[in-house]
Amino acid sequence: MSDITLWKPEPDILIHQALGKAGEEAGELATILFRCLIQGLDASEPVTGEPNRRSLFDEIADVLAATQWLRDLIGDEFDQARFDRKLAGFRRWQAMLEEDAGLGHCDICAKPIHADDICSTDIELGICHAACLEGSPTVDLETGEPTAGKIDTYRYGDIASPVGRTEGGAHV
Ligand SMILES: [Zn+2]
Repeated sequence: MSDITLWKPEPDILIHQALGKAGEEAGELATILFRCLIQGLDASEPVTGEPNRRSLFDEIADVLAATQWLRDLIGDEFDQARFDRKLAGFRRWQAMLEEDAGLGHCDICAKPIHADDICSTDIELGICHAACLEGSPTVDLETGEPTAGKIDTYRYGDIASPVGRTEGGAHV
């Protein structure tokens, strides 16, 4: 028989319960993540009819609440810089995947631009969804001067793809 370590449970009853609850909620989040993966985000639970997307956001909220409670109890050492680095890394990953798929990237909504999407070019942000740019001032791309006219729109798939890919995927 192998030796075992004779652990004792976390002695602080509040921290003990908050740790357990966060673990339980993390497990429930993992369950719905895998369900969305194998059934589809837009499918529904067959018996209850509950949309997977709704369940996913329920579990995200539960994990955030449980981890916030834990942070309140144990002394918050949340590393914002680490969070920011991770998120920036995921966005670089997204840009690479979008570029590989021949998609553009809209810097306003942070979503991919598909071939059938109607786009417009912003002087600073590059190619964006026309709908995302709606309401922003219109400028002449050559002169940078404000114009009174409607924004120039086009189907993303209609622009020369090498140019579109570079401009659309290069924002990180
Ligand atoms: Zn957009």
